[in-house]
Amino acid sequence: MTESTRLSRRLFLGGVAGLAAASLPFEAATARAADHRPPRIYSCREWGARPPADPLTRIDARPNKIIVHHTAYPNVQDFSLDYAFQNSRDIQNLHMDVNGWSDSGQHFTNSRGGFLTEGRTGSLNALRSGRYMIQGAHCVGQNTQAIGIENDGSYHLGEPVPQAQWDSLVAFCVYTCERYRIAPTEIYGHMDFNATQCPGGLHERLPELRAAVRALL
Ligand SMILES: [Zn+2]
Repeated sequence: MTESTRLSRRLFLGGVAGLAAASLPFEAATARAADHRPPRIYSCREWGARPPADPLTRIDARPNKIIVHHTAYPNVQDFSLDYAFQNSRDIQNLHMDVNGWSDSGQHFTNSRGGFLTEGRTGSLNALRSGRYMIQGAHCVGQNTQAIGIENDGSYHLGEPVPQAQWDSLVAFCVYTCERYRIAPTEIYGHMDFNATQCPGGLHERLPELRAAVRALL
């Protein structure tokens, strides 16, 4: 055995031991995740976001609330993942090219088919960390302390929210409340803070949303 093969063997054995040790916390995390599975949230990279036009501001504190929005876009019947991705790109283009913002204003988006996507770049890693947030542009006066989620559709004229979209909104709020230690009572609608009809009928369902989240936390 040459010196170099001894070294390789040591490295190999060390690697195996390292893997075995590393697998223990991984299994523990998996067991916890089975009790409380995080929802699938598609990242900006997955839906093909543009990079932000300007550097975004990181807030080194946990947000204290969730604010629910609707996009006021037409109530499409396309419930596919492809449509969720296209909608995320449409919103980003509107916010950057028409509104002149640095990036999507909201932190997350929920499609009518129940697909969750990251909105503002970096929001997903921030949420997973549970320790910081990216400053948003979704609700005047709340952008440094509230996570904003846009639910695709128009719900101010009595239209029903598709069940899949409702279920993913509940799952998103459970995960976000858990990661950021936000109480379910701290879930609001946009109209609680600004003069707007947003989020339409979803606002009347906030007590139901808070109760559903509390039951699952
Ligand atoms: Zn809104």
